[in-house]
Amino acid sequence: MNASLSFLQELGIQAHNAGTWIGSTSFDHSERITSSSPVDGGVIGSVSVSTPEQYDRAVAAAHSAFLEWRTVPAPKRGEVVRQYGNLLRQHKEALGALVSYEMGKSLAEGQGEVQEMIDICDYAVGLSRQLAGLTLKSERPEHFMMEQWHPVGVVGVITAFNFPVAVWAWNACIAWVCGDSVVWKASEKVPLCAVACQILWNRVAEENHVPAGLSCIVTGGVEIGVRLSEDVRIPVVSATGSTRMGREVGQKVAARFGRSILELGGNNAIIVTPTADLKMTVTAAVFGAVGTAGQRCTSTRRLIIHERIFDKVIDAIKNAYGQLKIGSPLNAENHVGPLIDQAAVAMYLDALNAVDAAGGTFHLRGGKLEGAEYSSGCYVMPSIAEVQNDWSIVQHETFAPLLYVMKYRDLEEAIGLQNNVPQGLSSAIMTGSMQEANLFLSAEGSDCGIANVNIGTSGAEIGGAFGGEKETGGGRESGSDSWKAYMRRQTNTLNYGNALPLAQGIVFNI
Ligand code: NAD
Repeated sequence: MNASLSFLQELGIQAHNAGTWIGSTSFDHSERITSSSPVDGGVIGSVSVSTPEQYDRAVAAAHSAFLEWRTVPAPKRGEVVRQYGNLLRQHKEALGALVSYEMGKSLAEGQGEVQEMIDICDYAVGLSRQLAGLTLKSERPEHFMMEQWHPVGVVGVITAFNFPVAVWAWNACIAWVCGDSVVWKASEKVPLCAVACQILWNRVAEENHVPAGLSCIVTGGVEIGVRLSEDVRIPVVSATGSTRMGREVGQKVAARFGRSILELGGNNAIIVTPTADLKMTVTAAVFGAVGTAGQRCTSTRRLIIHERIFDKVIDAIKNAYGQLKIGSPLNAENHVGPLIDQAAVAMYLDALNAVDAAGGTFHLRGGKLEGAEYSSGCYVMPSIAEVQNDWSIVQHETFAPLLYVMKYRDLEEAIGLQNNVPQGLSSAIMTGSMQEANLFLSAEGSDCGIANVNIGTSGAEIGGAFGGEKETGGGRESGSDSWKAYMRRQTNTLNYGNALPLAQGIVFNI
């Protein structure tokens, strides 16, 4: 039996019988989403769509769980998350394989995602003893000021298909140690990964007698996401996905004075300078452009190459593309797996046509792959096209292995090209020059949330704040002080004297 199916069976999930989950209770309903693998087209299972009533019960359960959980000392909350991390360690291989099979990324990347979940659990455990506020000097005698951070309530998490488990964990583990509960609407393209995470969580939750509803999943497509964005019971909505989705969610959440954490599309570039190490550049560019079949928010979309070294860099990259093996991501020999579905293939082919129509030159023109190995209809050959940065197709994120290349003369021009797109997620420079590196990182340099030197745009460590500017949404998740978005700040002023002096020296005699 397929490893993913046996894992689901081991978790006690009848894959065809997975629905909305509140704590350890699953609700089934007749309307269903079928999950099939882009790897071989096999049907993995189907998941019932949450009805409005089930959705309401999930949010109500999450709210009552929050009322209880906020009173548990933060380090004790961290202890539960620590145990979840340990359970994930035990199931890393199997959960990683399910991620690979349902989403189509390589086994190594699937397990890398679970490793990120484990890492964020560890991070959250440490954080549970460090949710610190400031103390501040009061202008009034015998007064004391401080800031406290309190849990905010139910956190809604909407996730994209390309990181079926890690992005939820980035949000959930931090939210739990902060004292919040979490309602997760996973991508309708990878629903079984979400069910597997929930079942594993239930084991830890039951052993620790944590309130049911601390983690809930609601299943379905856009309509459930809209319901969650409009729900006044959910003060924070963290939404990962396309800019189109973020624009809609952001406005709905803002209209009810909620807070959103938006993690949206990227259009990431690497600037390749004359002093760049060629081998490092090729590795960074090729992994960035074709890793996860170009379906990472941080995938490298554009290479901005100094005109003097342009031909040499293109030759080296074409040579590397010539060695790429495309096929099942479950075979460790392959470098590039499938796109998520046939609609994504059609979008890729449309983008290639748009590049043609705009007058682009293909250094490599890929297309849809046919044959028994590619029978799911989701496999494509990557492309490299020389383009102008301001073309409308280049300004858009095409979520596929399509790499744009362009020339520059001086670094100011290169930084201008790099910044001249609507998105602002990840960026990189390959250089041996300290001056160039520092200019790139300065206020006049990259305008992205992530700016790297001598590594590519793709991938990030959980210790840093992850996210981007402009149409990428401005949200920050995971490390650094991102936890503050999951809490509310309260300023306290305490008078330990016997008089009541007013602020700003105001006198009010009665
Ligand atoms: P998508 O926007 O189609 O869907 C993402 C999620 O949003 C899904 O769960 C979907 O059901 C939900 N959704 C869609 N429209 C909605 C609406 N109007 N209201 C509420 N919910 C809605 O994205 P996708 O195709 O699953 O993922 C690919 C996109 O995600 C790419 O643009 C990629 O760059 C982006 N992404 C960004 C990050 C980041 O951290 N910046 C990480 C991963 C993916």
